[in-house]
Amino acid sequence: MQCPYCNAADTRVIDSRLAEEGTQVRRRRECERCKGRFTTFERAQLALPNILKRSGDPVVFEESKLQESFKRALYKRPVTQDARDHAVENVMRKLRQSGEREVPSRQVGEWVMEELRDLDHVAYVRFASIYRSFEDVNAFRDEIERLQRLPTAEQRKSQMQLIDEAAAEPEGAAVVEPPAPRASKKKKAR
Ligand SMILES: [Zn+2]
Repeated sequence: MQCPYCNAADTRVIDSRLAEEGTQVRRRRECERCKGRFTTFERAQLALPNILKRSGDPVVFEESKLQESFKRALYKRPVTQDARDHAVENVMRKLRQSGEREVPSRQVGEWVMEELRDLDHVAYVRFASIYRSFEDVNAFRDEIERLQRLPTAEQRKSQMQLIDEAAAEPEGAAVVEPPAPRASKKKKAR
């Protein structure tokens, strides 16, 4: 680190200790050239990064705006508020873990889409069609077709319920055949 007195390129650490109950590292430094001493503090950057708009302007991250995006995309969709809050939390965790001072809004949009893709396909398409300008119409159609082949979290859950119910029925009474990959589970239940 540069010397704040004479601007020499490097300074030596002469003492290093934890401060503020271990949340900071306090270092005493000395300049080899002018012998000037100073202290630095190092702490984890936990504040959420600013959001870099498409225009290039940084704006302060607002949780309420993120919640609003999810609310709008999930309007009248069968997704609980708990699931929605969880998705908001996931995006905020990714923001925090980025360790960046600024994150492009486009990146946040991608994270929102990842969450929606798992929550509800209709909401995902709603959000994606506005947020992401798909390269061309074909790319958008490919994405929708791909999604139609994937079960949503809700569908996966109800599938599991069917399997559990089938497993609970007495032998031979199960009307619903569990899908092949789950066959071993049924065997175990007998
Ligand atoms: Zn110096």
